[in-house]
Formats: sequence, C-alpha cells, structure tokens
Amino acid sequence: MIQTVLDIQAIRKDFPILNRKVNGKPLVYLDNAATSQTPQQVIDVIVDYYSNYNANIHRGVHTLSQQATDAYEQARIKIQKHFNIAKPYEVIFTSGTTHGINLVANGFSSILKKGDEILVSAMEHHSNIVPWQMLCERTGAILKVIPMNQDGELVMEEYSQLLSSKTKLVFCNHVSNALGTINPIKKIIEKAHGLGAAVLVDGAQASPHIKADLQELDVDFYTVSAHKMCGPTGVGMLYGKEEWLKKLPPYQGGGEMIAEVTFEKTTYADLPHKFEAGTPNICGGIAFGAALDYMNLIGFDAISQYENELLEYATEQLLTIDGLKIYGTAAKKTSVISFNIEGIHPYDIGSILDKLGVAVRTGHHCAQPIMDFFKIPGTVRASFSFYNTKEEIDVLVSGVKRAKAMLE
Ligand SMILES: *Cc1c(COP(=O)(O)O)cnc(C)c1O
Repeated sequence: MIQTVLDIQAIRKDFPILNRKVNGKPLVYLDNAATSQTPQQVIDVIVDYYSNYNANIHRGVHTLSQQATDAYEQARIKIQKHFNIAKPYEVIFTSGTTHGINLVANGFSSILKKGDEILVSAMEHHSNIVPWQMLCERTGAILKVIPMNQDGELVMEEYSQLLSSKTKLVFCNHVSNALGTINPIKKIIEKAHGLGAAVLVDGAQASPHIKADLQELDVDFYTVSAHKMCGPTGVGMLYGKEEWLKKLPPYQGGGEMIAEVTFEKTTYADLPHKFEAGTPNICGGIAFGAALDYMNLIGFDAISQYENELLEYATEQLLTIDGLKIYGTAAKKTSVISFNIEGIHPYDIGSILDKLGVAVRTGHHCAQPIMDFFKIPGTVRASFSFYNTKEEIDVLVSGVKRAKAMLE
C-alpha cells in the first residue's frame, strides 16, 4: 500500500503538462531523470519576469535593472540556504551541471602536473568523463576508474587502494542517473581529504530527491541543474569552497567577470562574478529559486519517502514480468529503474510505451561505460517523481507486458 502525507492530486494540478494527451492517451511522464516537469508557480515567475522587469543585471541604475538584480541575487541566496552553503559568493550560476564540471576541469588544468592522478567513478555520466579525459590530455595527468560491482555499487576497498598522495582530484556522482545508486559520498570525501585530494560531486541526479548539506559533507565542489528539480533548462549551480574558487582561474573572459581592463592587464572581479562572464540566464536563475521554494514547500522528507514507495511498488510489479531484469540493485537507490527484457531491444519497448502515452528513456543514458560493464546496448529507464502515481506505474507495467507480447 502506498501511504503518503502528500496530496498527490493537488500537486498534480500544479503541473499543467500532466493534463495533456500523447497519442490519444493521458501522458504518463516517467522520464524525470532526464528532466523534470515545471509547476505553474515556476511558470508564473518566468512570465512575470518577462512581463514586468526584464532588464540586464548589475549594470543599470534604472529601476528595472535594480529589480532584476535584486531578484537574481535573492535566488542565489535561496540556493545558498537550500544547500547550506557558507557564503553566497560560493554559489556560481552556470548553464547546468555540464558547464559546472567543465569550469572546474578547465581550472585544474593550471594546477595539475604530469603524473598527478584523477579518480573517477565507474558510473559517471558522459559529462563527468569527457572533461577529465580532456584535462588529462592537456596536463599529462592520469585518469583512474573506481570500479563497481554487479549491483551497481562502488567497490570502496578498491577506491581506498587507488587513492594515494598522487591523487589530486576525485569525481563522483551523488546519485547515478542510469542506475539510481546513491553513492556513499561522505565516505568518499573523507578518504580523499585524508590524502589531500579535492572532491567534485555531481549532484544533478541527487538534487531532485535529496537535500544535500554541503557544509556537512565538506565537499569541495558540487554541481546541479535546475531542470532536474522543477526549474527551467539552461541554468544550474556550481558550488565551490571559497579557497578553491580563489585558486582557480576564470573560465571565460568577457563582461561582468572583470574588475579593470586595460590592454596591458585585466584584473578579475571578486567572487562570484569572476566565473560569471557575460549576461547570464537571469530569468532562469530567478525561476531556479522559485523551483527550490516549490520543492521545499512540499518538503524533501515527504518527497523521498513517497518516491521510495513508488520505487518499491514499481520494482515489485515489474519483476512479475518473465525475463525482465533490473540493472542497478544497490541497497540505497533513488526512484530510477533501468531494465531490459531478454531478447527484446530497449528501443522497441520504448516506442510501444510511447504509443500508450508512457514516456520513458531508452538507450545508454549518457553512461555508456555502465552499459559496457553489463554487456548490454542500453536499457529502458523509468524514473519517478513525487507527482507520479501508483496508477501510472500500473499503466507502465501493463504497457511493458503488452510490448513483450507483441515483440516476442
Ligand atoms: C543530467 C545529468 C547531467 C547533465 O546535466 P546537464 O543539465 O545536461 O548539464 C550530469 N550528470 C548527471 C548525473 C545527470 O543526471
């Protein structure tokens, strides 16, 4: 039985898109790990911005510019509070997780030396592998991989053995987007710090489910994307400890990031502006703040409890299907289920589900090394949010059964 303190029907009314039909069927949106839907409260903030105070920030003396600047800086403080970050200027607005990771990777190219080592977990998103490979090519540093087991959990003993005084950086996602595994990042961070290595945690997949306390974690860098947590696309946050942000060089040159420019020398602006060249996604940043307000009003404890119930129910129901295998069976998981049915290509299942109005992701989920590990081309991935229901899971399960009957 699913019992929740959340009024799911009232919550669903906040999301206009959930009313639409797809291929003549009510939309069942189970692709939340790729992007979440946007509540009316956040849409209203976007409309209000462009209707009433659209202006460039930090520049004009005029009223609109001041209103836009205030709202944008208030959003930064909402983000700071949400993640329990010590200083507002440790919050860098980015275009999303990928941008945040690249910013850090680029910065470390002036710090790393030949022979230094970077550890990266075996269950990373491509956005968390490619920038490090590029960094290694530039600096001569060596990339090493923390392996995982068949349940999709990192092998911590191997991690301890890989760590050494040569390790300068460790990169790991908080939650795997392909498998849903919640990684023991507190332990990962503690061990890395024991040897003087810095840690960047990719929080893109954790942030919709877990409210991370970044001071408590003592993490050096943490990245998120607003669009995975009820906000708009094209905006996100990079958290960096002040000492690190001071050490890293700017990523892009341009307006906003400079203190003084002459043709001989430019001095950089203080944090956070040093990393925020050019006109940012102002409306997106403000809407990101509104999305955090929305999710906090519902409450992360209630959200994760309800999503766990959905996960358990869906796991149980899917496993009643003959030949269905779930990839990612870690003890600690968020509401993501990656699966295949023996002898059937995931894409074919996804296409039939779409005809039935059910949106799932199929493919390698930007995590090809994970697929190689399990020796599969890809999976079908259903990922649940707090606005999904048990009835929608029933539609998914009967859809998968139907697809199986058609394709076998
Ligand atoms: C979605 C995701 C990313 C990429 O986020 P963008 O918003 O596309 O930059 C990175 N890592 C993980 C774990 C993700 O889920």
